[in-house]
Amino acid sequence: MRIPVQPAAVPAAASHPETASVRPIDNPLDRPLGSAFAERLPELALPWQAMRPEQPAILALNEPLARELGLDPEQLRGEGGTRWLIGGDHPDGSRHVAQAYAGHQFGTYTPRLGDGRALLLGDIADTRGKLHELHLKGSGRTPFARGADGLAAVGPMLREYLMGEAMHALGIPTTRALAVVATGQRVMRDEVFDPLPGAVLTRVASSHLRVGTFQYARALGDTEVLRRLADLAIDRHYPALAESDSRYLGLLIAVVEAQARLVASWVLVGFVHGVMNTDNTTISGETIDYGPCAFLDAYDPAAVFSSIDHRGRYAYGAQPVIAGWNVTRFAETLLPLIAEETDGDPATAERLAVAALQDFGRAYDDAWIAGVRAKLGLAANPIDDDEVVALAAELLQELAAGRIDYTRAFRALAETARSAAGGGAGGAGGAGGAGARGAGSVGSAIRYEELLGEHGGAGQWLGRWLARRPDPDAMDAVNPLYIARNHLVDAALVAATEGDLAPFEAALDAVMRPFEPRPGLEAYALPGPPGRPHVTYCGT
Ligand code: AMP
Ligand code: MG
Repeated sequence: MRIPVQPAAVPAAASHPETASVRPIDNPLDRPLGSAFAERLPELALPWQAMRPEQPAILALNEPLARELGLDPEQLRGEGGTRWLIGGDHPDGSRHVAQAYAGHQFGTYTPRLGDGRALLLGDIADTRGKLHELHLKGSGRTPFARGADGLAAVGPMLREYLMGEAMHALGIPTTRALAVVATGQRVMRDEVFDPLPGAVLTRVASSHLRVGTFQYARALGDTEVLRRLADLAIDRHYPALAESDSRYLGLLIAVVEAQARLVASWVLVGFVHGVMNTDNTTISGETIDYGPCAFLDAYDPAAVFSSIDHRGRYAYGAQPVIAGWNVTRFAETLLPLIAEETDGDPATAERLAVAALQDFGRAYDDAWIAGVRAKLGLAANPIDDDEVVALAAELLQELAAGRIDYTRAFRALAETARSAAGGGAGGAGGAGGAGARGAGSVGSAIRYEELLGEHGGAGQWLGRWLARRPDPDAMDAVNPLYIARNHLVDAALVAATEGDLAPFEAALDAVMRPFEPRPGLEAYALPGPPGRPHVTYCGT
């Protein structure tokens, strides 16, 4: 790249005898990570080093994820392990790079964004052999920082950890946090007067290839670089395409499908990403960059939480259209490759790309209808899709009209179905009768008609749905009881910023097992107190 290379000289920490002596033979921390991106795409990879805070301290370590990656949590908690987590103490042969990418942010194109405060450390295989990338956020300024400080505050990094784990537990493809490490530095942010404690997030993703990466490569005007990028994406995410004669069209079709499914899963669970820029749209179909995201409370297609989304571009209900827009930007970048693998005519490539994009709506509908059918307890019921859609549409209208809590509504519907079937609250093995609030039903076991009654609704819809004999236990297996409630997340992050991690850990515990009622977690099943609408700030 034509960007100045290294930050102010950082002495390489060659050896740390105190930790080296306790490292087992063939320690994964002694092996350089893979560097497929840096090797195959040097044009997009700027060698860089993470800053080295003097006293890094782990705030949160994802032990199950560490084990999946073949890493020993105890070792990571040690001094050398902690430094390793934030990009220090890596053996020779490691190639840490800032990745170049472009992107449309709120619809406006910026030709060079890139990792301004992030680094790709490299590839690591999990215990089943699947490759993942290790990546840092908040690891210091890079030449892509565009005047910003390169740092991250504890609150937003823990937020990313929590939201990622919540999504993972809900079965939604996502990047995940391996750790959040406090740097001991102070970070200044506009929203607050006092400096905030700084942190680095260690992130795991199947890759960090984004639509914006392809936009950057396309803008270089070198089809060979673009091809190498597309080939890396295919090898990593869609290996079945590698032998195909129309692999680049195949890549487009696969990404259209993956993004359609992803956004359907967000909509189904009531998730608002908040900053669906093309640089935050992955090729893998994983959710990435938990900045101003939030879960719905009251059902409202126009819901916007982000302080910077003034026009509602990324509103809850706008997300499918935006995802379609983003994959259209992706399709544009692939046109030269698609032309090459067909008859060389740009018009042919365009026609094929348009056809692939037109499939976005079908892919989204398929995923959404299957999802809403399951949410309504009708997965095993042979009624046709049109009837499912009609039932769901009417229900959503009712929820919107009453501003009813989206998550709670589906659990309440299961309670209604259960009592209609004579099961009582808690179902088989549950405690108490319908509407009971005993330990087995843990607080939120309100029936839908009660919930609706609180909002003055009548519930003519219910009869038609109940006639279809919905399965309440199947509903409870797909409709979360506990979500990352905005007010509780905020309170947990405020406490963590002040040094008390207990509320964060409690929130994490709630969202990591979202379906199963547990005593003491009632607050995660309920909306926050009425008042000012919740506002989220960008994850800087
Ligand atoms: P994001 O909103 O996190 O997707 O970031 C958008 C772009 O801004 C990326 O190029 C980031 O690397 C960059 N960026 C965000 N915050 C900072 C920061 N504090 N320092 C440097 N770059 C940043
Ligand atoms: Mg981003």
